Amino acid sequence: MRKVIVVDATWLKNGYGGVLVFAKAQDPNQHDYPLAFAVLDGENDASWTWFFEMLKSVIPDSCELVFMSDINRIMISAIVNVFSQAHHGHCLWHLKENVKLHACGVRKDIVGHRFMELGRYYTVADFNSAYDSFKISYPSAYKYVEEQTEEDRWARVFFQRDRYNLDTSNSVESMKNINKEATTWALIPMLDCIIGKFSDWFNQHWKDAVSGSIDSKLVPRVKNCLHELWPVAQKLHVRKIDSYVFEYEITDTEGKMFLVSLVERSCTCKVWDYEKFSCLHGLAAYISLAATFISMSCAQNTTGTELGHLHILGHFMLCPTSLLGMYRITSGR
Ligand SMILES: [Zn+2]
Repeated sequence: MRKVIVVDATWLKNGYGGVLVFAKAQDPNQHDYPLAFAVLDGENDASWTWFFEMLKSVIPDSCELVFMSDINRIMISAIVNVFSQAHHGHCLWHLKENVKLHACGVRKDIVGHRFMELGRYYTVADFNSAYDSFKISYPSAYKYVEEQTEEDRWARVFFQRDRYNLDTSNSVESMKNINKEATTWALIPMLDCIIGKFSDWFNQHWKDAVSGSIDSKLVPRVKNCLHELWPVAQKLHVRKIDSYVFEYEITDTEGKMFLVSLVERSCTCKVWDYEKFSCLHGLAAYISLAATFISMSCAQNTTGTELGHLHILGHFMLCPTSLLGMYRITSGR
């Protein structure tokens, strides 16, 4: 399970008041994984603190943990107090709505789109270039972003923890929408309805996991993604830089060069580093490595150096799971 917890709340419309809170995570196949839900009497310090203390009883505080939410000062304060080691990120979508409000004389939807793009660049160089352009094109929006937001809370390149593809709290919206009608009911029927839906989801996912092949090393989303990249990756020019630490120089179809380290699971495009499964260039390097392994296995006269390679390779081939960034969904993690 990815250590990013998305939290959001919705007001109840049942006449009693209060808010319904959801906390969810995401599995490697990018399925929502509900962690907790609760009804609070309101969005105040005591209620939020109680909720996060209950959450902490099942999910320990950790410096690897990330919370993602909109800029709700009371909620963020409670997170900081209860999960003192965790990091907090601001929902890019909610920030975008604020940025649009501060854009003057331009199309607000385009400003919002450009801001979302800023938050999702993979390299600092690309971010800086786009941010300079944003400053010139949308000075009033830029002033708001510069003065009222913290870049390391929303921009991927400055974010200090692993947040994978999670940069908004919108995914909780789906849980709110699914239970929209129930939020108008009395508490007990509403709680029964939510528990029933979660039980159905878990039951369905368990059945899906059990029905999958035990030979598959990839979750379906990663498998499909790499399957689409494969024909392009096969054609890229690959040059081995260092045989012992598996570094490769990859040249893409536009002539741009990238440095891949299979051991570090890293590429200078930074997609692998952030998304946690191989980018196009990493896949090209892996295909090249696999071809080398096959040809070396077929060699009749194996030299001492080649034996060294094979030893490293044998060790290396044991970790295709982490190499290609996948965990088996059947493991229950
Ligand atoms: Zn790459």
